[in-house]
Amino acid sequence: MSHDGPTNSAPPNKLVVRNIGLLLSGDLDHPILDADTVVAIDGIIHAVGKEKDLDTAGASTTIDAKGTALAPGLIDSHVHPVCGDWTPRQNQLGWIDSCLHGGVTTMVSAGEVHTPGRAKDIVGLKAMAIFAQRSFHAFRPGGVKVYAGAPVLEQGMVEDDFKELAAAGVKFLGEVGLGSVKDGTTGHRMVAWARKYGIQSTIHTGGPSIPGSSLIDKDMVLETDADVIGHVNGGHTALPDDQIVALCERSPRALEIVHNGNERAGLLALRSARELKQLHRVILGTDSPAGSGVQPLGILRMIAMLSSLGEVPAEVAICLATGNTAKMRSLNCGLIAAAREASFVFLDTAQQSAGKNLLDSIQKGDLPGIGMVIIDGAVSIQRSRNTPPATRVPEVMKS
Ligand SMILES: [Zn+2]
Repeated sequence: MSHDGPTNSAPPNKLVVRNIGLLLSGDLDHPILDADTVVAIDGIIHAVGKEKDLDTAGASTTIDAKGTALAPGLIDSHVHPVCGDWTPRQNQLGWIDSCLHGGVTTMVSAGEVHTPGRAKDIVGLKAMAIFAQRSFHAFRPGGVKVYAGAPVLEQGMVEDDFKELAAAGVKFLGEVGLGSVKDGTTGHRMVAWARKYGIQSTIHTGGPSIPGSSLIDKDMVLETDADVIGHVNGGHTALPDDQIVALCERSPRALEIVHNGNERAGLLALRSARELKQLHRVILGTDSPAGSGVQPLGILRMIAMLSSLGEVPAEVAICLATGNTAKMRSLNCGLIAAAREASFVFLDTAQQSAGKNLLDSIQKGDLPGIGMVIIDGAVSIQRSRNTPPATRVPEVMKS
């Protein structure tokens, strides 16, 4: 996906982040980089390395990381936005901004299905998706990028509908199975049309989420062959273990584990993917807002849960919520590497954690503290209002 932020006519903006204590790249193959400095120009990472080797002169903004860890901004692969920063599910305002305080800089809509009076006729569902795409493209709550406009498949859609949606800027389908398409044959046909026009797909997996939703079992998931096996750990009711293992073994598609799911089933999916040496397929989401509410720290909680109970090093667990998701979802964020979006979260050991350092604290199940979040090269927030307090926090230097 191209970098499609709002345009402005400001002069070039050079950001230098120095004195980084631990650089967490988001890349599963090299989760920790031997670097202490990142330079970004106009919101795009320009160089990553040792301060002495980089051109840091002429910075418009310099951040002293104070020895804290720098990671890519977290990606929530599965949210259900409606409009603006409001959700009718729990009638809450400001939920996206709260997630920013949990380190999330990018969200992917799995369908605007909570919209009151959601249109189910074809012209109506297309109009709704295009409206959501436009609306969240133009309005970023707290700076968070929400890739919305994710139509739900309904019976009667034809190939031209997908062509039209793609031409209008729609990039993702809402969860297959939340609309009237509930059989693998139809799902497969429509997902293939979507893919032909560059629209990515996700399928609901497991039992019904709420009254009115329905069971999607492994046979329908395999037959539909959507790009992402949405909440492979159920949302909330999981499939039987043998079906989850079968999805890991028999599908090459992304395995999404969500906060609003069955935690034991999530650990099973993680272990199955690791045994298959396919950890790159594992991506994380919250599925919020949901019946269980909005989870501002949901992605951090998933990282700590999978790392502490799933025997995955913390730096690897962070890749599941950053680089893995970016690769599976074709987003230009999620990695600290040249030419990627300069969206970062600064992490440090929470005050009074029993962990010896940040990674050890996460592996012991504690959440990290967030000291700052940067989106597209600009500081969005400083010390998080939602995480436990970070021991050290970065500082914006006077220029
Ligand atoms: Zn779902």
